[in-house]
Amino acid sequence: MELWFSEYQTKNVKLSFRVKDLVYTKQSKYQYISVFDTEDFGRVLMLDDTVMLTTRDEFMYHEMISHVPLLTHQNASKVLVIGGGDGGTVREVLKHPVKEVHLVEIDEEVVETSKKYFPTISCGLSDERVKIFYEDGIEFVKNHKGYDIVIIDSTDPVGPAVGLFSAQFYKDVSNALSEDGIMAAQTETPVLFPELVKRIYDGISSAFTFTNPYTAVVPTYPGAFWTFTMGSKSIDPLSREIIPETNFDTKYYNPKLHKAYFTLPPFLEDIILPV
Ligand code: SAM
Repeated sequence: MELWFSEYQTKNVKLSFRVKDLVYTKQSKYQYISVFDTEDFGRVLMLDDTVMLTTRDEFMYHEMISHVPLLTHQNASKVLVIGGGDGGTVREVLKHPVKEVHLVEIDEEVVETSKKYFPTISCGLSDERVKIFYEDGIEFVKNHKGYDIVIIDSTDPVGPAVGLFSAQFYKDVSNALSEDGIMAAQTETPVLFPELVKRIYDGISSAFTFTNPYTAVVPTYPGAFWTFTMGSKSIDPLSREIIPETNFDTKYYNPKLHKAYFTLPPFLEDIILPV
């Protein structure tokens, strides 16, 4: 008998994977965790039947949420990642000469699952520069300061992640950043949820001097076309000189395209920019 896992991206659209092997399932305190192998997308991690990552396309998301802010900043020492318990973002952040990485993940079970079943993604979590806090990121940012970079690698705005998309949270993140600090957040898809993307953009722009959305293709996320948004207190990312190469390999991020990532397709400009 065939087993399929599906994510309802909207009430009318679902993405389904035929399961080659069911690897692991667990109901944690916060969410239903499932791990399974597929023919075409490799190993998949779902939380509450929503795709978090696949080993086939995770690099697209993790490289873009990390290298764009870090290479814009150019001198980051202390980095905070909120959410991101799979470790993919931390793995990319550690490719930079940073001194300290704090990961704040509400659900310890996600970290444990990734350590066990996604070694190529969680590999940075045992690095001595990384400290993991099992706490709510919304509260954490109110009490910790002095970060050069804050990355919001959260689930969609449901359950404990709702507050990670509020204007007040973005203000707290801004206060947690040093004077030349930069935030990058995953900010959902304009293809299926234009109003949500606009609301998030307005929240970020109420908290930062510079608000710069950028985009990437992530085939297994809803709409397959994803936005991230950079909020910066004093660095204008568009006036920054970007060195056109990195001293590490990337598969999606290309420094030659760094500034071009901020050039938005007109349909997205129409959604977010004030008329
Ligand atoms: N890249 C993924 C995506 O967009 O689908 C997100 C991956 S990562 C696994 C998201 C993590 O955020 C989850 O492990 C979840 O437990 C965590 N999370 C949700 N709300 C949180 C909160 N308030 N504080 C800290 N972590 C939170």
